[in-house]
Formats: sequence, structure tokens, C-alpha cells
Amino acid sequence: MLSNRQIFLQSLAQTSDGPLALEIEYAKGVEMYTTDHRRILDLISGISVSNLGHSHPEIVAAVQDQAAKHMHLMVYGEIIQSPQTRLADLLTSLLPSSLNNVYLVNSGSEAVEGALKIAKKFTNRTEIVAFDKAYHGSTHGALSVMGCGTFRNAYLPLLPGISHIDFNEISALTHITEKTAAVIIEPVQAEAGVHIPSPGYLQALRQRCSETGALLIFDEIQTGMGRTGSMFNFEQSGVVPDILLLAKALGAGMPLGAFISSTEIMQVIMNNPALGHITTFGGHPVCCAAACAGIEILTRDAIVEQVEDKGALFQSLLSKSPLFKEIRRTGLLMACEMESPEKVQQLIKYCLEHGLLLDWFLFDSESIRIAPPLIISDEEIEEACSIILQQC
Ligand code: PMP
Repeated sequence: MLSNRQIFLQSLAQTSDGPLALEIEYAKGVEMYTTDHRRILDLISGISVSNLGHSHPEIVAAVQDQAAKHMHLMVYGEIIQSPQTRLADLLTSLLPSSLNNVYLVNSGSEAVEGALKIAKKFTNRTEIVAFDKAYHGSTHGALSVMGCGTFRNAYLPLLPGISHIDFNEISALTHITEKTAAVIIEPVQAEAGVHIPSPGYLQALRQRCSETGALLIFDEIQTGMGRTGSMFNFEQSGVVPDILLLAKALGAGMPLGAFISSTEIMQVIMNNPALGHITTFGGHPVCCAAACAGIEILTRDAIVEQVEDKGALFQSLLSKSPLFKEIRRTGLLMACEMESPEKVQQLIKYCLEHGLLLDWFLFDSESIRIAPPLIISDEEIEEACSIILQQC
């Protein structure tokens, strides 16, 4: 009989020849337990997903309750389902009044696809401006705006009319013109290795978009839901996008994404043709029930308010090590830059052997990624850092 590991390697499509291939039996809070009973502290949250940790009892209860009431009923947008309406109400109550209309999808990439479509139709323009080292997903539209030629060139032809400009470079904003339908940007570039724009940059970008009539899309798929120390990162700059994208932590462990805009912009998908953007499972009621519980817990337990202090504790402990050349951090999203990709891989391997899961970044192999569940305790932070520092 084949082992799970053999079936995983033979019968599940692989995305690289070096999968992590950990076999997890169960996970709770910040801890994951392997089938051979090893405890592993999760410092990456399934890539910024498990903000409330694993198997939060209230999320589990919300999922179970909704599954027992009803699961899928009908494609998105036809039937009134209370988990969806509650979620839209919760989200819009947290957002500025210009972001008052929510379209629910299944993933981050789908949120990107929906946003690009409404921007093109609303502005009646076709050009899109994106950024070098941006990551927005793997579907064709999302790949087209990805800021890395190696990934894009393997799948040509992609969407036409897309230009990539330097992130955080004010002089490059002149590439945004009256022909630009939308500018899509991560307000903090995550997969680039946590690149935080200089003060004033996002304001200048907003101004250029407003002057030219281009819609500004903020991809907060990785930075949203408290990760950077505010529920949404844009609250920190005060720059309000025309379209906001959420996914990852939105579903509190369940697959869910959203593109959010004003009713005026969103209504372009209602007609000419009607049903211009539809999805079977988008806004699945069980996922929305989990998302509602997640937002309620994040707010009720003041979890977001503690993120900055926890991030600062990580940074103060890790900055003691001479092996980190630079630490870039916003809230609990952190990149610790080392001398070389080899050093990064050595550290990741060492930590995993000692019960700590770390990662690197898609476009920055010289930095380790630290993005733990936001509920991580100070003791767990100290434990994690002591393992990292032992190796250093
Ligand atoms: N945008 C950003 C900023 C992301 O980090 C990701 C996923 N890493 C995506 C979009 C795509 O999301 P998904 O994998 O759910 O399609």
C-alpha cells in the first residue's frame, strides 16, 4: 500500500520539485502537529491566512452551524443568504462610504480578475499599470499584472496593454495617463520581501489616478484583516482606493475573496451584458459564516491593536543577530534579509528540524518570511526567536 507521502508525490500535481511535504495531523492556535507527533510553531500562517490561528473554536462552531443549516444553494447573486449579507454589512461598516459594495469570490486571483474587469468597463479604457515585483495571483489576468518576467514569459500571450513601473518611484507615475483604466498595487509589497512605500508615495499615486481618471486598486489580499496593525493597511496612509481586494485571512481559514468598490463602479457588471461576472461558489455560505466570526473576534478581542507590539518584539529580539542584514516589517509581516539565498535555506531547514516553520518570499530569496498568526503570544514569540537565534 502506498503511503500518504507517496500518493502526495505521485498523484497530486506538484508545484515544484521541493515541496515542504510535512504531514500534519491537526493544528491548534500557533501550533501544528505532524502525524509523527512533532510540534511545529507556525510562523507563516499558511501565507498570511490563519490570522486567528488554527482551529479557533468560534470559527469551527460558525462553520459547523452554517454547514448544518445549508451549504451551497445557488450561484452567487441570486438568493439572499444571511452569512453573505452579514459579511457585506460587517465589511462595509469597517470601510469608508465609497467602498460600500462587495462582490464575493473564492480566492485572491479571482478578486483581481473581477477588479480588472470592472475597471476596464467603468472607464471604457484598456490599459493597466502594475508594479515590478508585484504578486497578484496565478490566473491569466492576475499573472499579466505580476511584476516578474520569468513567471509571465512562460505563459505568453497574456493580457495586452499592461505596463510595469518601479514601486515607490514617484517619477514613474507619469506612466499613468488618460488611457489608463486602472493601477493595481499592493500598498505594502509582500512577495517582493515586504517593501513599504516611502511617506507620501501612495498619496502621490492617488493624486495621479484622480487627475487622469484611472481607478486605483489596492490589493490587500495579504495585508488585510489586521496583518499590518490596522484592519486594512490603507488606513495607515489614509489613501482610499477605488477598489479594494481581500482574500487569504478574510475567510478565517476558509476560501473566500472579495472585490469591494462603490455601487456606481460595481454596477457595470449588472448590464450590457447582464451576468458579466458570475461565479458558482463565490461567497459560499460556510466561508462567509467563518469570515463573519473572524471579523467579530478580531474586533471584539482587540487583536489588531496588539499586532504592532508583537511585531516590535520580534524585531527587537531578531535584530540582535548579526546574520540579518536588514529587517523590513509592518505589523506582523516581516522580512529578515540574510547574506544569501543559501543562508536563508539553511536557516529554514534548521528551524524546521527544531520545530519552527519559516518561509522565504517568491521574489526575494534572500529574506526569511515571518508572518505568524496574529494571536501569537509573547512567550511563543520568545520561543520562536530563541530557536532562530540559536542557529545564528
Ligand atoms: N495578491 C496577493 C498580494 C497575494 O499575496 C496573493 C497570494 N499569495 C494573491 C493576490 C493571490 O491569491 P490566491 O492565491 O488566493 O489566488
